[in-house]
Amino acid sequence: MNAEIIAVGSELLTPARIDTNSLWLTARLNELGVEVLRKTIVGDDRNLLAQAVASALDRVPLLLITGGLGPTEDDVTREAVAQALRRRLLFSEEILAGIEERFRRLGRTMAPNNRRQAFLLEGAMPLPNPHGTAPGQWIDLPSGIVMLLPGPPRELEPMFTNHCLPLLRERLPQAFIRTRFFRVAGMGESDLDNRIAPIYRAYSNPVTTILAAEGDVQIHLRARAASEQEAEALVEELGAKILAELGDRVYSTDGSPLEAVIGRELASRGETLAVAESCTAGMLGARITEVPGSSAWFAGGYIVYGTAMKTRLLGVDPALVAQHGVVSEAVAVAMAESARDRTGATYALSITGEAGPEPSTPGIEPGTVWIGLATPGSASARLYRFPAGRERVRRWAVQNALYQLWRSLLESRAG
Ligand code: ATP
Repeated sequence: MNAEIIAVGSELLTPARIDTNSLWLTARLNELGVEVLRKTIVGDDRNLLAQAVASALDRVPLLLITGGLGPTEDDVTREAVAQALRRRLLFSEEILAGIEERFRRLGRTMAPNNRRQAFLLEGAMPLPNPHGTAPGQWIDLPSGIVMLLPGPPRELEPMFTNHCLPLLRERLPQAFIRTRFFRVAGMGESDLDNRIAPIYRAYSNPVTTILAAEGDVQIHLRARAASEQEAEALVEELGAKILAELGDRVYSTDGSPLEAVIGRELASRGETLAVAESCTAGMLGARITEVPGSSAWFAGGYIVYGTAMKTRLLGVDPALVAQHGVVSEAVAVAMAESARDRTGATYALSITGEAGPEPSTPGIEPGTVWIGLATPGSASARLYRFPAGRERVRRWAVQNALYQLWRSLLESRAG
């Protein structure tokens, strides 16, 4: 079954508020096997909202509307839906009594405006709202279902979970969803897509989505079927083909980030890691330690931002810096080797580069980064040229440092 969501509220059309309700609802609906085909945001305008409701119901049988159930004139959802469905709004003494009771309990007097919240669409079932005044409404139509839900997430979420989910489960045909979540590093989004598009395009179910962020590409597969086994077989078939094509470029098949995958590998080998960071100034260490329990494999690191600190803390030879420059292969290697020696860790990563936006080292383009890796048998460094943008350069550098270590761990595993 397909659904649409309408989020109501002029504030959601400003930069001040983001519509998070539709994301939350989409996740719940997907779990039920319902696809969300469109989300709309409409300001507090009755006619516009009535149009949006009518046109959504022309397309899909399931419509969820959030917000605009408050007591004030600009809360127009009830009226707009009544207009779109050509149904009357009926006053409910019972709902009013509930609202009055809530005000009494809170020791407040009810404003006359709150009576507006006691109107129900003809034929609607009220959905209790223990966390707010306005009840939700569930309307069964000959061709579908409309839900009116409150805007505040703390009211909407329990209402949906406790009242809408059980009703939806009864009414929806059984559908099971199975997913696969692969993460790939060391490959751009378009390279990756060129390689796997011929494979996944042959399938409309599972649906394949590719998301990319700074050197990390994610592949999501989602299959939908009448039984769990069937859905599992569908994702398994396509997943296996994609894995066969990408080989060890896929570093994670359970959604774990690179730092967690590396952590597991190091822990299983009883090995450790240290870092020496210049232009990322601690971001690599921070990423590694996002993983709970990382003290088991992360020895620690050096933030050696200024040249003097590279010498003082790590003993990098000033003559080396003078000869090659601070952003150089020689300095990256020296930083990694020294961090490894001084911490006694099995591996050490180093990062020295020019994050920009203005060049601070003559002759070095912003985005130029050397990443060094010292292992028990070798020390080397690789040159990267990342696209401009200070934060982006720093995040790419961290991701690629982790990926460089991961490749080395894979190679030593194979060897
Ligand atoms: P109330 O009865 O509390 O007034 P309501 O149904 O009228 O509820 P709104 O007035 O539309 O809800 O929104 C109240 C608040 O709920 C907003 O200021 C906002 O903080 C939050 N909210 C509304 N819609 C959304 C949304 N789509 N995503 C996230 N938060 C939302």
